Amino acid sequence: QRKRTPTYDLNIPIDYNALGIGGLDKELTEIRRRALASRTLSPQEVEEMEIEHVRGILLYGPPGTGKTLIARKIGGLLKAASTKIVNGPEILDKYVGVSEQRIRELFAAAECDQDRQGANSGLHVIIFDEIDAICKKRGEMDNHVNDTIVDQLLAKMDGIEQLNNILVIGITNLPELLDSALLRPGRFEIQMKVINLPDEAGRLQIFEIRTAKLKENNKLDGSVNLKELAKKTKQYSGAGIAGLITMADFKRALGEKPKKKEEKDQNEQNVDESSSLKKSEEKE
Ligand code: ATP
Repeated sequence: QRKRTPTYDLNIPIDYNALGIGGLDKELTEIRRRALASRTLSPQEVEEMEIEHVRGILLYGPPGTGKTLIARKIGGLLKAASTKIVNGPEILDKYVGVSEQRIRELFAAAECDQDRQGANSGLHVIIFDEIDAICKKRGEMDNHVNDTIVDQLLAKMDGIEQLNNILVIGITNLPELLDSALLRPGRFEIQMKVINLPDEAGRLQIFEIRTAKLKENNKLDGSVNLKELAKKTKQYSGAGIAGLITMADFKRALGEKPKKKEEKDQNEQNVDESSSLKKSEEKE
């Protein structure tokens, strides 16, 4: 049975908060636009206009800013027919050829779909988290495993030209380690930095997302002022804010009473404590 091709309307705004991602509206809108713009056209228009679909997007930036979170949600956002997420280090295998085989398998499902469905089949998204673990500059590592993995990925991405229905997303904290051949046109040709730290509005969104469940279950103390917290947590990443809320939850679980307004000074000290937590997370 023929699957229906999803129709994309890039003018319909998306509520990214409802997806659970805060403070990254600009980046997500850009990813959607770049990945899908050419895919809103008919195959005939694509041919007539000699357009090439975007095959690869690299998301890079410091840890804890939500790149992995985006990876988990991107398939839904792009109405993908399938989404595969693999972690770079997981692909590595000590036996020669096994890692390359895994890469071929990742592309196989989309390639089969193309055979059955023709050029306009749904989008298959393949995500490599921590791609720097498997795609370092060739010729610089002692063993050749890295080099043959890079060769295999390049070969597969070049093959997408005929396919059109695959989008590969690479995620890394260390883009400077990647083999430069991967960044050429037709491969990870779009490179997007995921912002350093969210601004106050972004932090408020993240606080709201991360406390939504507590609120739903009436477990968010009435004295908690999220706007105030968003103001006070400049320098916090998304992961830092998530850590702060987890720590507050632990304290509650251990029976500590919620802070009252007059204990404001104490509250501020807590924010300081968590900032060391945030820093250690960011170092990871
Ligand atoms: P790393 O490179 O270390 O994997 P990352 O940029 O991929 O970092 P995530 O793993 O996505 O960051 O973030 C860690 C956790 O922090 C997420 O599971 C999520 O709970 C929270 N978080 C980070 N950024 C955001 C955000 N923008 N909105 C909501 N939650 C966020």
